[in-house]
Amino acid sequence: MRPFEHFNAGTVGEAILAAQGNSRIIAGGTDCLSMVKNRLLPAYPEVLVNIKTIPGLGNIQEDAEGLKIGALTTLANLEDSPTVKEKYGILADAARSIGSPQVRNMATIGGNLCQDVRCWYYRRSPLTGRGYFCYRKGGPVCFAVGGDNRYHAILGGKLCFAVCPSDTAIALTALEADIIVQGKAGDRKIPVKDFFVTMGNVLTPGEIVKEIRVPKPPKEGKQTFLKFRLRKAIDFAIVSVASVIAIEGGVCQDARIVLGAVAPMPIRARNAEEAIMGKTIDTAMAEAAAMTAVAGAKPLTMNAYKIEITKALVKRAILAHRKPAE
Ligand SMILES: Cc1cc2nc3c(=O)[nH]c(=O)nc-3n(C[C@H](O)[C@H](O)[C@H](O)COP(=O)(O)OP(=O)(O)OC[C@H]3O[C@@H](n4cnc5c(N)ncnc54)[C@H](O)[C@@H]3O)c2cc1C
Ligand code: SF4
Repeated sequence: MRPFEHFNAGTVGEAILAAQGNSRIIAGGTDCLSMVKNRLLPAYPEVLVNIKTIPGLGNIQEDAEGLKIGALTTLANLEDSPTVKEKYGILADAARSIGSPQVRNMATIGGNLCQDVRCWYYRRSPLTGRGYFCYRKGGPVCFAVGGDNRYHAILGGKLCFAVCPSDTAIALTALEADIIVQGKAGDRKIPVKDFFVTMGNVLTPGEIVKEIRVPKPPKEGKQTFLKFRLRKAIDFAIVSVASVIAIEGGVCQDARIVLGAVAPMPIRARNAEEAIMGKTIDTAMAEAAAMTAVAGAKPLTMNAYKIEITKALVKRAILAHRKPAE
């Protein structure tokens, strides 16, 4: 690694000031350090602004409105929190599915939302003798389109087809959470569903994620998080689904179904939600709804298999809420 300054911020304001110019925020460092070390950033940062030294950003609190999660809360604390496990179960399940215990002990929820994509062209270090200067790095081409795109987007890709790697983002989208960020101009609240864009997220330079607010989920809403991956541990999703479905008197009253790892951002499967709303759920209906979830899919040359996995997970997520008598 090259020399860089390591600045320990004492407040969010200090971090914002220090994060102007050629710098990078560092929290748990589980993604940031490999990006720096492998020379994957547009410029080698002169300053790493450590926000782990800011007090008060690592707590989970519940009040009448819902949950407030400080951006420095570790994934380990999320998966272990009795409140999160009991009332916001898909968030605990998503956190538990990430990496290894070592990763989860270091990684923060803020960092999980802001982590960079895992496209292997993008992540190939120029130190290996061959880096890929693709669209996402400001280059002229996406190497995945004509190359090995088996893990890339089947929905919503445009110029860049890397998928959003964050598992907590999928759960938080289904829970209709907001992200509170602070920048030079003050605070703003961004719904998680609007946080991600094709080339990353909507943060402006120097803006810092401070807190995640999760409203109370509907009481009757059953939550399910499903993640299909090649290995049972330490692996990113090939496809994931998070759902919150409320059934009263056997009839679906509310449905939120979110697809992960199939697009550059979490995707709400609105067609599938509409297909089950107001209906009594059975296997045929779950299958039909799952078909609609992938109706707009445009697979690349090597990833059409993701369509079948998505359909299977959506169907399972819907049926997980069915009344046991059926
Ligand atoms: C072996 C391994 C397996 C993994 N598997 C998974 C997986 O299955 N699913 C999954 O979702 N993730 C997975 N990850 C990614 C991991 O979850 C992220 O690396 C981690 O969550 C990042 O958190 P961090 O605190 O370490 O962030 P850092 O590495 O410190 O930062 C990551 C990025 O976010 C920015 N950042 C951090 N905090 C903030 C903030 N508060 N405000 C603004 N910007 C910020 C940094 O500048 C940097 O760009 C895996 C990682 C490893 C190493
Ligand atoms: S998918 Fe995105 S990150 Fe990967 S090569 Fe294409 S432009 Fe680059």
